[in-house]
Amino acid sequence: MARVLLHVCCAPCSPWVVETLRREAEVALYYYNPNIHPESEWRARLAELERWAKDIGVPLVVEEYGAPEWFERVKGLEKEPERGARCEACLDMRLERAARKAEALGFERYGTVLTVSPHKDAAAVNRIGASHGEGRGVEFIAADWKKKDGYKITTLMARAEGFYRQAYCGCVYSRHAGKAADGA
Ligand code: SF4
Repeated sequence: MARVLLHVCCAPCSPWVVETLRREAEVALYYYNPNIHPESEWRARLAELERWAKDIGVPLVVEEYGAPEWFERVKGLEKEPERGARCEACLDMRLERAARKAEALGFERYGTVLTVSPHKDAAAVNRIGASHGEGRGVEFIAADWKKKDGYKITTLMARAEGFYRQAYCGCVYSRHAGKAADGA
């Protein structure tokens, strides 16, 4: 059975993707989200994931917070709209780290739950993900998880689990924009 390292941003975005992938692969979750602001929110999302991962018996690999590095990476892009250059940089940073971790831990494939959100550009996520898998011997699982009712199913599953659900994508800029941009 193939081994998949799955980048996750929060519990509510994850159940449908995890259930689907577990039908044909051994899945481990990977939490690296230095974009999430403030740190208490980063911890709240992590705590929910830890509880759920334990419940379903899936390993969870946690990276350090690393917010200063993220702010450095998006410097000058603060005013960019969602799906613009700041989000590209944010996705690039997280998926590059996920690909490197997958390679280091010997996973054959890696992916992310991010495209389950209607706010995420699947083409951009898949392009960035594939670019970091290439040359590392790690195949990126290109997907648009929101399709085929994926978002609806995920939302229902998250409700049934009673997950803590945030009302913004993750970074301080999306928080101030006041958008219900779930799926950091
Ligand atoms: S809106 Fe979301 S994807 Fe875009 S920079 Fe902020 S946290 Fe990252």
